[in-house]
Amino acid sequence: MDHEDPAGARHPNGPNDRKHPKEMTSSMDVLEIQSLVGGRWTGAPTVVRDNPAVPGQRVSVSADLDTATVERALDAAHAAARDWGRTPAPARGRILERAGALLDDRADEAARDITREEGKTFAEARGEVARAADILRFFGSEGWRIGGTTYPSAVGTDLIYSRREPLGAVAVITPWNFPIAIPTWKSAPALVSGNAVVLKPAQITPAGAWHLASVLREAGLPDGVFTLLTGSGARIGAQLVESPWIDAVTFTGSVGVGAGIYTAAAPRRIRVQLELGGKNAVVVCDDADARVAAGIVAAGGFGLTGQACTATSRVICLPGIRDAFLEALREETAAYLPGDGLAEGVRMGPVVSGGQLATDLGYLEKAVAEGARVAVGGAVADGLLLGPTVLTGVQPAHTVAQEEVFGPVVAVLDATGLDQAIELVNDSRFGLTAGVVTNDLDTVHRFSAEVRAGVIKVNRPTGGVELNVPFGGVGDSSTNTYREQGQTAVDFFTWTKSVYQA
Ligand code: NAD
Repeated sequence: MDHEDPAGARHPNGPNDRKHPKEMTSSMDVLEIQSLVGGRWTGAPTVVRDNPAVPGQRVSVSADLDTATVERALDAAHAAARDWGRTPAPARGRILERAGALLDDRADEAARDITREEGKTFAEARGEVARAADILRFFGSEGWRIGGTTYPSAVGTDLIYSRREPLGAVAVITPWNFPIAIPTWKSAPALVSGNAVVLKPAQITPAGAWHLASVLREAGLPDGVFTLLTGSGARIGAQLVESPWIDAVTFTGSVGVGAGIYTAAAPRRIRVQLELGGKNAVVVCDDADARVAAGIVAAGGFGLTGQACTATSRVICLPGIRDAFLEALREETAAYLPGDGLAEGVRMGPVVSGGQLATDLGYLEKAVAEGARVAVGGAVADGLLLGPTVLTGVQPAHTVAQEEVFGPVVAVLDATGLDQAIELVNDSRFGLTAGVVTNDLDTVHRFSAEVRAGVIKVNRPTGGVELNVPFGGVGDSSTNTYREQGQTAVDFFTWTKSVYQA
């Protein structure tokens, strides 16, 4: 059963204290993660999460909120949206900027929690937290810029202008692989635009969202404007999507869950933004430096344990460089031996869960059964440590060439030339990111023009995007209507009203 913390039980100054509850614990304690409902920490933590790199080490306990508590949270968010929408945008932005500074102050601690809970290395987690703080500042400053347009009148001297209005209360549903960056890059533009946010993070990685909720609350966000709901995705997520108090849904996660949300939201015709999977390819051209290409592919394929929607999961090799590239890639994999992401020198963390490992190994087994070869890796150590894996002899119709693995697995396909390579890149239901390694300018321009993907990377890993640049994909990767990140991110969270004034 959910309960509210009695005054003074966990927070020294009572439940309305603005202090981060984590201050009561040391960084290696089991985190007691609570939900934030109507500005108060709530929920009996019953769901346990163990460190994927250290078998048996408990990291966090969080609540699986019941339906009545979620309903109460939705009422509070709906009520809070009204005044928040009327708060001047620069004042809204100032709170986000303050939250960014608070997050910077506890960045090491938040990064450690993320490494222990999700598995990415400390350097990766630290980078993610720093990104989240920058996002808060970026959208904080957007408070000075959100505005409309003035239009000339054809019939006289009327003043005609547009206003951007907030949608109301928006549901933010996020995956486990960027537990603080994704909640932040969705919530910050929503908040600065004047919406209340109801965040439902992945059940297995609530710590990042909890740190975000904590800094927003401490920064002075009014009660109810930001809600954190931990617990079952299928139950709480579905309750949010169907609630009449929810005016839009922004979701990042798997294609199957995203498709279900799209269908469930359709009867109410609310806005839905989906960012889904990828099957991101890198074309390695004959004129490339094999070592440079291998470094780019390894960073994109094995960084973040390959558990990123932008991860490199296909490599399309031209014939003149194939052998040298594969040799260089084999050498690169040595740097990505998996281990505990808090340990010195470890560059790749574990797979996030037993379920994800079973999925990864299932794809490897199927790839071999369909005729591919495991050229490097494929072995598992200490529970969830899957080594960086390279498959060769992969054919376009193989399952591993078409479906997202979401692990440290790179499938190498062969192409006879650039025409066929571009065809293979586009031979996918996804279209999130795509890369090319070449020094030839004509190839760069052709690739950028002809490839169907939302993000093109030239001589850079497919992963890694900048916070001020629009992000999203085509096909099954995205709803491809409103882009996330950058100034255009606020478009999804606002509607346009036109005013004619005599
Ligand atoms: P998931 O789809 O299983 O879960 C995502 C979120 O949806 C979680 O919060 C989960 O609790 C919730 N959820 C589950 N069932 C639900 C339902 N019926 N209704 C509403 N919400 C529900 O995804 P995941 O396993 O957490 O993340 C991995 C996936 O995310 C991969 O497919 C990956 O490609 C994708 N991803 C995409 C991007 C992107 O920007 N395109 C970024 C990161 C991850």
